[in-house]
Amino acid sequence: MSWDRQISIKSKDELNLMRDAGIINAEALKAAAEACVPGATTYDVNAAAEEVHHRYGVTSPFRGVPGPIPFPANTCTSVNHILVHGIPSKKHVLKEGDIISVDCGTTLKGYVADSAFTIGVGKISDAARKLLEVTENSLYEGIQRMRVGYHTGDVSAAIQAYAEGRGYFLTKQYTGHGVGRKMWEAPQVPNYGIAGQGVRLKAGIVIAIEPMVLIGTEKTKVLSDGWAVAAADNSLTAHYEHTIAVTEDGPRVLTLLSDGNPPVSVIGMSGDRLSQELAKGL
Ligand code: MG
Ligand code: MG
Repeated sequence: MSWDRQISIKSKDELNLMRDAGIINAEALKAAAEACVPGATTYDVNAAAEEVHHRYGVTSPFRGVPGPIPFPANTCTSVNHILVHGIPSKKHVLKEGDIISVDCGTTLKGYVADSAFTIGVGKISDAARKLLEVTENSLYEGIQRMRVGYHTGDVSAAIQAYAEGRGYFLTKQYTGHGVGRKMWEAPQVPNYGIAGQGVRLKAGIVIAIEPMVLIGTEKTKVLSDGWAVAAADNSLTAHYEHTIAVTEDGPRVLTLLSDGNPPVSVIGMSGDRLSQELAKGL
């Protein structure tokens, strides 16, 4: 079977269900962001997201993912040099100047939404702020290309051009991915690639696009807990992610709040501005 044929095409009803999952996911991320204050632990940040999940009676596809230990939380909390897959911990106290990525998944009626942000804890350095801005902007560069007739390589290449063009690095080991009934579906969408290559996008394809940006190196290492992935040189890292459907009307971001705003934005992206930019096209 060709790679292309493994890609599931979602119906309008399925997309609406995924949008409902995405709204809850956005609310969980927003609650998590509000908990990212000096003195809080990464356990507290995860607990804020889980409280939202409990309120809606939904689960997270993250919990129980097989590994050295089954993943024990509904979110990944990854601080500073940790790029992805940090396990929330009562021992990890956030301090002023840290940056933290929160990655959250939500399963509603069998459909998954997947999204992540990175923000500062209190006041952060200019270098950290620039990293967060470049990472978030690179995500929107990718989203702009989630259009019928474009290719996954266009999405990948746009992210790469934006981040590398500003002197940053992207991991080659972890990628964006199709999402739907499972958290990881075909196709894989790396954060590097060649425009015009890859899978041709058509309406009903849903992809979690997730640039993972590093300041000093593209190399990563898995830490001793077997989960956390860190920059090999311990420099700062950031991660932004949305779940996006390709539709005949353009990209539909499924992981926004019900009012259309992103749950978190360091660049001040609003729902209105995002709609305008996506309507404008390239
Ligand atoms: Mg994610
Ligand atoms: Mg993902």
